[in-house]
Amino acid sequence: MSRLLFIAHRVPYPPDKGERMRAPNKVMAVGLLVLPFLASCADTSNSPGEARVTLVFRYDDCSATSSGESEDMLLQAFRRHGMPCTMGVIPHICTENVHEPRPQGTISLTPAKAEFLRQVVRSGLVEVALHGYSHQTVRPRSEGGCTEFQGVAYERQVAKILEGKRYLEHLLDTEVTTFIPPWNRYDANTLRALGEARFKCLSADRRGTAGSQTALTFLPAPCEFREIGQAVEQARHLHSYRPIIVVLLHPYDFAGPEAISPEELERTLQWVQSQDDVRVCSIRQAVEGIAGLDGENLERNKYYYLAAARLVPPFMRPGFLSNQVYLPGEASASLVIMGGAWLIAVYGSIIAVSFAGMRGLQFLLSGRSATVLRISLWLGSITLVAAVVCAASLTGREYVSIIMGSITFGVSGAALQNLLRRRRNSGSGTSASEGVQPRQSPQGF
Ligand SMILES: [Zn+2]
Repeated sequence: MSRLLFIAHRVPYPPDKGERMRAPNKVMAVGLLVLPFLASCADTSNSPGEARVTLVFRYDDCSATSSGESEDMLLQAFRRHGMPCTMGVIPHICTENVHEPRPQGTISLTPAKAEFLRQVVRSGLVEVALHGYSHQTVRPRSEGGCTEFQGVAYERQVAKILEGKRYLEHLLDTEVTTFIPPWNRYDANTLRALGEARFKCLSADRRGTAGSQTALTFLPAPCEFREIGQAVEQARHLHSYRPIIVVLLHPYDFAGPEAISPEELERTLQWVQSQDDVRVCSIRQAVEGIAGLDGENLERNKYYYLAAARLVPPFMRPGFLSNQVYLPGEASASLVIMGGAWLIAVYGSIIAVSFAGMRGLQFLLSGRSATVLRISLWLGSITLVAAVVCAASLTGREYVSIIMGSITFGVSGAALQNLLRRRRNSGSGTSASEGVQPRQSPQGF
């Protein structure tokens, strides 16, 4: 039990980048009451030998035009550490701008790039995945975001997917069983087309559909390279659920002022290698070795992610709610229930504290005139509503709106209760002009 009370061991990561770990989770007093119950739910009895964290590196956007230098540096580093990775390859990249839907030409993989990929595939460490066909969007960004497949007719999708797979398999002499949709966007027709083309896994993000009937497995990528240390720490809270971390890399991660330098890459891979409970594999190895990565599991993880990342503020997030890991199998269902219970505990606590605070304020004001009381309550309510609107529009974070909404709910509940009591008292002829519980010797504020 003690390991589940979320007093996690801290792992220094990476040594030169300072403290990346969050401060210990702060929880509200009422939330603490339910913590032992939730912790006991999380305590599974897997043997220590089973407990592992799986880490997958997924590099997207390898094409005829992507930087061969960065890719060579990246793959040499993986090779030095004996770490596999999955490379999402675009067979025929569009010639101009992937974000422009107007007609464009395509460039197939150059002989040099094809030779490079053949070599890394032969090394046994690289899995080649199909990353779209030309990666060109079929609609402007303003119309629901860029996509190469979402909303496209089934026949067109299946033709692109089949042609792209055949091209890569023939050129690189390898089997391609993983599909990565550009911009992580796809639809039910994409799933049908992937079934037709005998793909085994779709790796997008956690928002996508799992369709109604598909034999595909799903392994979304929820983690950025510089979040690895934090994600591993989160995964350790959930080690008995066999958590998976899929780290996403792009060519642009190795360019510009914020670029990952060769030294940083080396240090991070060294750090990963030194973690005894972390094993690195490709997407194909993960879906072949870990059960329970089907479509139903993707749906369960959506709810889990909703609680973990969008509805519970970071400083109220307990160890069992992680926004950077993906959980396989039926076990993730119990975490969805725990996430729901935590949500109720968090927002119930906020409502209760707001209610109590408002009643306290009414008590303090009870020595004042009814007008002062009424003005204060109105001003307080207007300020709260304004704060809700501002916070929601400024931050765009769901939990900010819900926190403010809960406070408003608690405060208005207390104000309403006070109003009803005064009405009742005045109806029965009792003097209650000063609100709740008139004080014997008001002391002011
Ligand atoms: Zn891409």
